Order: sequence, then C-alpha cells, then structure tokens
Amino acid sequence: MLALQQSQNPALFVYIYDSVESNATGEAGHWWLHESLKQLQESYKARFGASLIVLEGKALDVLQKLIKKYQIHQVLWNRLYSPETIKRDTVIKKALQEQGVDVETFNGHLLNEPWEVQNNSGQYFKVFTPYWRKAFEVYQSKKEKLEKIKSINVLSHQENLIFNFLPKKKWYQKFSKYWTPGEKAAQDQLSRYLKTDIDIYKDARDRPDLDQTSKLSPYLRFGEISPRTVVLNILKSKNLSTSVLTYLSEIGWREFSYSLLYYSKNLSSVPINLKFQNFPWRKSVKDLDLWKKGKTGIPLVDAAMRQIYEKGWMHNRLRMVVGSFLVKNLLLNWTLGERYFQETLLDYDEASNAAGWQWIAGCGADASPYFRVFNPILQSERFDPQAKFILQYLPQLQTLQKPSSIFQPHLQEQTFQYLVNQNLYYEPLVDLKDSRNRALEAYQKIK
Ligand SMILES: Cc1cc2nc3c(=O)[nH]c(=O)nc-3n(C[C@H](O)[C@H](O)[C@H](O)COP(=O)(O)OP(=O)(O)OC[C@H]3O[C@@H](n4cnc5c(N)ncnc54)[C@H](O)[C@@H]3O)c2cc1C
Repeated sequence: MLALQQSQNPALFVYIYDSVESNATGEAGHWWLHESLKQLQESYKARFGASLIVLEGKALDVLQKLIKKYQIHQVLWNRLYSPETIKRDTVIKKALQEQGVDVETFNGHLLNEPWEVQNNSGQYFKVFTPYWRKAFEVYQSKKEKLEKIKSINVLSHQENLIFNFLPKKKWYQKFSKYWTPGEKAAQDQLSRYLKTDIDIYKDARDRPDLDQTSKLSPYLRFGEISPRTVVLNILKSKNLSTSVLTYLSEIGWREFSYSLLYYSKNLSSVPINLKFQNFPWRKSVKDLDLWKKGKTGIPLVDAAMRQIYEKGWMHNRLRMVVGSFLVKNLLLNWTLGERYFQETLLDYDEASNAAGWQWIAGCGADASPYFRVFNPILQSERFDPQAKFILQYLPQLQTLQKPSSIFQPHLQEQTFQYLVNQNLYYEPLVDLKDSRNRALEAYQKIK
C-alpha cells in the first residue's frame, strides 16, 4: 500500500481465488475468507473510493486478462512462503516480466523474510531460542515505523465484485457469535489487549479457563493485521516486562514456523525427523472419529474438541493436550490431526499448524521429546483447576460436583453409570497409563 501511495499511479485492487488458495484454506477458514473480503471491499470503498475485484481462476490467466484490458504496466503483491505458492508466484513473475510488466513483491506477512535470519554458518535455525534471539535483533535493526496510508489513486472498472466462498456445510453459522473478521476488528482487538491483558500474559496464557490470550491468530492468518503492526504497537506502548517478552516470543514461534515451512519440503506431511516415517502408527477410523467428536471419555480432551467445533478456535494449551492424546495415547498419525485442524480452525495456517503438530508428535524442529506424553488429568488440575473450562463444554458433568471427579468421571461409579446409561458421557477410550506405555514401546522401534 505504501508503494502504491508513493507511485501515485491509478490502481486496481484484485483478489484471485485459485486452487492454491483453496487448498491452503480449510472449511472454517472459508467462512473467515468470505467475511474478510466483504469487510475489505467496504473498507476500500470508504477509504479510497475503490472496489475490490474478486475473481476465480488460474492466477496467471486472470492477471493476463486484466493486464491486457486495462493496459497495466506494474503488478504488486505480498509474498507467500509455502512450496506451492512460491512455485505459482515464480511462474507468474517470470511470465509477466517476459511480457514487459514490472513486478514488485513485498513482505506483508512476517517480521523478517526467512532468508534474513540465518545462523553463523549461513544455515536456517532448527532451534527456537537462538532463532528468536537473532530474528528479533534483525527486525529491530530495520528500525521500522508505523505508517498510515493517506490516499491512493484508483482506476475505475466494471469487473466482478460478487463472490461466495462460504462452505457448503452450515456449521460455520455460529462463528459470527464469537468473531468479527476484518482489519478494524483486528486493530480494536489489539488495542484492547494491549491495555491490560498482555501484562498478565505470562501467568495466564496457559489457562483455558481464564481465556486470556489475544485471539489475534485468525487476523494474522488472513493478513488483516500484520505481525509488524502488532510488534511495533507493543514496542511503542509497553515496557519489555517478562509478560510482554513472552508474548513477543509467541509471535516469534509464528516466524519460526514460517522459516520451517520455507526451508522444508513439505512440512504438513513429511516429518522433519525422517525416522518418524517408519513410526508404527495404529489405524482406527473409530478412534479418530471419537476424538474429533469429543467422545473419548477424557473430559479435558472432549471439552477442547468441542471448543474447536463451536468456535473454530482452540486454546494453545489444549491444542497440545488433544494433539498428544491423538498421537501418543491413541497412537494415530499426527497428519490426521493436522488435517482435522486444517478444516476446523479459523486460524488454520500452513506453517503454524504443521509446525505445531510436528512439535507435539516429537518429529519436528526443537520438538517436545516423544517420551513427553501430556497427562490430561494433570493438565486439568494445573490449567483448569475448578473445571470451569470443562463444564463450559460438558455441562452434563456438573452432577459430579467436585473438580477432581469431573476430571475423571469413571472413578465415581454410580454417577458415571447414570451418565453413560443416559448417553451423556462415555467410557474412557483408553487407559492413560497403558496407552502411554504402548506409545513409549512404539517409539523404541524407530529410535
Ligand atoms: C498442534 C498445534 C496446532 C496449531 N495450529 C495453529 C494454526 O493453524 N494457526 C495458528 O495461528 N497457530 C496455531 N498453533 C499455535 C497456537 O496454538 C495459536 O497461534 C494460538 O492458540 C492462537 O491464539 P491467540 O491468538 O489467542 O494466541 P496468543 O497466545 O495471544 O499469541 C499471539 C500470537 O502468537 C502466535 N502464536 C502463539 N503461539 C504460537 C505457536 N505455538 N506457534 C506459532 N504461532 C504462535 C499466533 O500468531 C498468535 O495469534 C498451533 C499450535 C499447536 C500446538
């Protein structure tokens, strides 16, 4: 936008939906995409008198038609980092340049380009702490400032403004109860968060019952706010307390995930630690289905899986708990969880999701060691001590009264039998101790 403002040339704003975009956006994400484009059209109209064109088709063909029709001599876009997007955009850049069109691309999605952050031997980092130390240093050395766009000249046109990217299944309808997509909502959310909540981030961030994290992830995913806007606002308005530094380092994990996406061949299906290609995963459609539906008989896992289906979002601590349960206690391949999150998360992001799943499966860069199996009962005691979060999604467990009973309903024989008979709750799908041992034995086979 700054480049457009400086050039003063009249501009066309175009969004192209092609098969690469469609594959990189899951079912829930399509709701956000649809709402986000609606907001963007309104905002461009109000700010610049411009109407955002929305077109479907092969990106290069769509661009070439527009270039010819409006005699365009320059095309600008923000860079993306998955192998598919890089391949597509490289082809487009080459073709346009060959026909004499100037192409300029920018970084709108990250603090640093992946290739700007390397270790002393010129390699990409595989461990987070030194990565982030270097990445933050590189970013600060750029001395960026927050800048406002004042005016942009626009070209008039009669192109398509109508679109419908809403998923076929209607389950997304409830999302509007919880979320407002768009740039303005992102800015408001950030301002609210910086007023007080960020100051207790370090202590509260692991507690799903407190629900205190910033909820900026879908906005970041769809480019409605950039990590640079987030970080610059933080640096402008906050002291670097441990809470603020912890928050910044989470933005760092997002950057680290993008570095892994950029440098690995296929982060969402190939384990970084290749030994895991031979891992003896179980196959069980039934267990996978019960996990997805939140019917495993382990309340924290079930409540979390209901949260994702209800809100299209899940608390980070719970993403780790349900991930560990799937991959270790159920011994199912991490890519199955990765795919389910892709469909159900509004913030589904090719980099963070794949890196998160590889981390939890123990096969990623700087990953949680495989033998670290999250115990959902201990996790409930530590991070949902009054069972407030669990009861929000499984109110039928209220009859068990004490948090300790709610964490393990099957130990309260009579009430539990009643719940099971009434089809209100379920037998645990696995014994936590036995299934943990089974996972550790399986791991021995690839060590
Ligand atoms: C198995 C698994 C899958 C995940 N899938 C995704 C995903 O598809 N999209 C996604 O944005 N995040 C993903 N995460 C990371 C994290 O859970 C979410 O970013 C976070 O819960 C979003 O909520 P928030 O915005 O309130 O986060 P906050 O705690 O407020 O953090 C601020 C921002 O930092 C970034 N961030 C925080 N934690 C992480 C992390 N561990 N890795 C990468 N970035 C992080 C996000 O952009 C987030 O919006 C995943 C984590 C795991 C363990």
